[in-house]
Amino acid sequence: MRMSVIGCGYLGAVHAAAMASIGHEVVGIDVDSRKIDSLSKGEAPFFEPGLQEILTAGIESGNLTFTTDMSAAQGAQVHFIGVGTPQQAGGYAADLTYVNAAVDGLLPYLSEGDIVAGKSTVPVGTAAGLAPRIEATGATLVWNPEFLREGWAVQDTIDPDRLVAGVPAGPEGERAADILREVYHPSVAKNTPFIVTDRPTAELVKVAANAFLATKISFINAMAEIAEVTGADVTQLADAIGHDARIGRRFLGAGIGFGGGCLPKDIRAFSARAEELGKGESVAFLREIDAINLRRRDRAVELVVEAFGGSVFKKNVTVLGAAFKPHSDDIRDSPALDVAVRLHGLGAWVTITDPAAIENARRIHPQLNYVEDRDEALRDADAVIVVTEWDEYRRQLPPEHASTLTEGRIIVDGRNCLDPAAWRAAGWTYYGMGRP
Ligand code: NAD
Repeated sequence: MRMSVIGCGYLGAVHAAAMASIGHEVVGIDVDSRKIDSLSKGEAPFFEPGLQEILTAGIESGNLTFTTDMSAAQGAQVHFIGVGTPQQAGGYAADLTYVNAAVDGLLPYLSEGDIVAGKSTVPVGTAAGLAPRIEATGATLVWNPEFLREGWAVQDTIDPDRLVAGVPAGPEGERAADILREVYHPSVAKNTPFIVTDRPTAELVKVAANAFLATKISFINAMAEIAEVTGADVTQLADAIGHDARIGRRFLGAGIGFGGGCLPKDIRAFSARAEELGKGESVAFLREIDAINLRRRDRAVELVVEAFGGSVFKKNVTVLGAAFKPHSDDIRDSPALDVAVRLHGLGAWVTITDPAAIENARRIHPQLNYVEDRDEALRDADAVIVVTEWDEYRRQLPPEHASTLTEGRIIVDGRNCLDPAAWRAAGWTYYGMGRP
């Protein structure tokens, strides 16, 4: 099937390459000419495991092309919209400028019977606002939210755990759902749940999923706050409650909280939309979820300060991690980078390292000292703080080895991903989040 993907960022570039890898003929379109140049040359413009391989294969097969020219969308049967929906500059709501611009840019190239499939995460009601313009061309608008996780994006796109298609009522909606089944034919063939809903439900499914995940993380972080004043251990608590199948252990890792380009802005946009709908109280708890999440960054900074007896001024602090999570170079709203910047603001000499995100981090925070090599970054540190749970820090850094590099023996585990007993046995003073 011929398709276009408008917006080639973390979502769109992966989607375009993944669709080509399952046999479709895909053109990726973006306004960012640097990104398009890089993609056209077969170079992934960001770090995402597996993307490079499917990108190269797609380009070599001739099934995958990239351009800044929207007219290239003409003749495609399905047009995916994957542009950004960031938080508005002056408020909590989503900024829909890019979605509107992408749709307006696409309109002249739509033909009768085309499907426009929104993948961006949008406030409920957005599709209803866009539909008249699109339907005037004879095309059909569906909402097909994306659930990929950065770091697993290729796998999640090619083999998702469910597909959701929000379609208009009537035969045109049924036809659109059938076309999406054809788009995702390998998943449909292996009986991946394919849930057909109306458009508002599909829009809400995505924000509800993210609100739930954010709530689960902040719940355990709230327990960490209580553990901290009672001497309890939140990791044992999480293990114990996680054995209950109704609760489950995943997403119960206490630490410095969530970040990235999705959860924080999505829960804020959801609150803002609910208020517009006169139902602010229904999701008022999301404000608290956000506040708990942000407090954990304060707590991590506080732990480092306390470890030095009240001041980090002129202390060498090595920060392990900059990306908002491992297997990604994404530093949007990264708690890891936030902690590093705050320590720097308090007068610490911060050295920061990350296997993938240094370039992105340096662009936004050039004031920090970046070191590519982990061991070089650890050299002469008075304290070390782990803020992104990359395997390089979690599994592949024996405390005895760290001891040969650092000056001090203070380790702050911002992700509760280290073995406290092993670090203590090697002579380190260990501080965890919500652990004694
Ligand atoms: P991103 O910032 O990485 O990419 C957005 C891209 O859209 C950019 O390359 C930008 O240049 C391009 N763009 C903006 N305006 C355009 C226009 N008029 N025409 C063509 N291209 C345009 O963002 P992202 O992380 O890929 O997220 C995109 C959407 O997908 C958001 O709504 C996000 O919430 C949602 N989403 C993201 C993820 C994720 O893990 N990143 C997962 C699920 C859903």
